[in-house]
Amino acid sequence: MIEELGDWRRTHWSSEISPELNGKEVIVCGWVQRIRKLGKLIFVILRDKEGTLQITAHQNTVDSNLFEKLKKLKNEYVIAVKGIVKESAEAKKGVEIVPKEIKILNTVKFPLPLDPTGKVPAEIDTRLDARILDLRRPTTFAIFKIRHVVLQSIRKFFVKNGFIEVNTPKIIATATEGGTELFPVSYFERVAYLAQSPQLYKEELTAAFEKVFEIGPVFRAEEHRTTRHLAELIMVDMEEAFATADDVMKTLEELIICVLQEVKEKCTVELETLNRKLEIPKTPFPRYTYDEILKVLEKENMPIPWGEDLPTPAVRKLGEKFKGPYFIVDWPTESKPFYIKPKDNNPKICEAFDLMWSWLELASGGTRIHNKELLIERLRSQGLNPESFKYHLQTFDWGMPPHAGFGLGLARLLMVICRVNNIRECVLFPRDVDRLVP
Ligand code: ATP
Ligand code: MG
Repeated sequence: MIEELGDWRRTHWSSEISPELNGKEVIVCGWVQRIRKLGKLIFVILRDKEGTLQITAHQNTVDSNLFEKLKKLKNEYVIAVKGIVKESAEAKKGVEIVPKEIKILNTVKFPLPLDPTGKVPAEIDTRLDARILDLRRPTTFAIFKIRHVVLQSIRKFFVKNGFIEVNTPKIIATATEGGTELFPVSYFERVAYLAQSPQLYKEELTAAFEKVFEIGPVFRAEEHRTTRHLAELIMVDMEEAFATADDVMKTLEELIICVLQEVKEKCTVELETLNRKLEIPKTPFPRYTYDEILKVLEKENMPIPWGEDLPTPAVRKLGEKFKGPYFIVDWPTESKPFYIKPKDNNPKICEAFDLMWSWLELASGGTRIHNKELLIERLRSQGLNPESFKYHLQTFDWGMPPHAGFGLGLARLLMVICRVNNIRECVLFPRDVDRLVP
């Protein structure tokens, strides 16, 4: 039998029930985490988003109908309990609730596809198939509470530093930068694409707002089957006028430190749940040139032809050598997108950087080209047709400032903060080559 909430409203979260409320009537709502029936005693552990609390009923002291109703409870039933707070030496946190009335707001169909307390381990695919149950597990919940704090502190950081938050279109007419595969979508009578990055729009916006940031989805139709690639991801992008790669690397460092500090401060419980001791790295992060990285890899019998991006085995190898964050700078111009500025004194290399954390690339950025002629030349040399970029290129005739910026993968940052090995752990409903539901 399913009951209605009626005029009952939660008066307290589980975390607010303390011995100081002794004798007070409260209403609490949540899920049955556990129920123990010991003859004349019933203990129900109720869970809400703030934690758990104990409800204790003794056959001799509660109404017999209520006692029978409590007996019927099963794990994960949704309940509301009206009762009196009672100090108790035995109960966890020194307090329990003696029920006066209870409503069973929903029941559960057994067997559940996974154990929401997290005690019985489950494969990632089982967990993702039953994500809502999985999110009740303390460790999964902790990751998304941390994610929430990370997002807030990123916003706070950019706003504090004078950036304007923007949203650029996610349905676009042409490829942003070539290279990455795009998802086509049917757009009225035409074909359009899902944006792989806000790159060109954010660059253009520096010509009006100077400092912009965007936190939004991007889509990549690459057939990666790895633990760090998804088809849909949230990217943290920034772009700044009158700045260079060096400037935005410093901003990126500061951002990372700010986020880590805030997580350390505000998420002590969640970090503990994840068994994670978060150490704040020192700045400046080490900076290695692409050539230096190639030498490291060569010593490890992993020669990379000059000019190529670093393949997965190579970054894995780097992860064995470098444990924390570091930048890779001075990339070959041909390995980076057309909009990255080649070095004035040596155009074979460019002012691009990647921020790595051990084996994982967290962000890419660089100084951009603001000279239209050079940009067209770079488009051509990467086999792209300047005609397809005419709306982008025209803004370069209207006073484009020199500018620089970066794009940071939110879920990858979370992988590092929460120390998890699979990016899918950090995304509510991940999308990849094999997964489109739930
Ligand atoms: P990678 O070399 O790791 O595939 P990338 O160099 O293609 O990444 P960028 O275009 O530089 O990616 O995107 C900026 C950031 O966005 C990356 O540093 C990464 O943190 C994140 N990112 C890029 N592609 C993906 C993806 N498919 N899934 C998850 N995060 C991604
Ligand atoms: Mg990159």
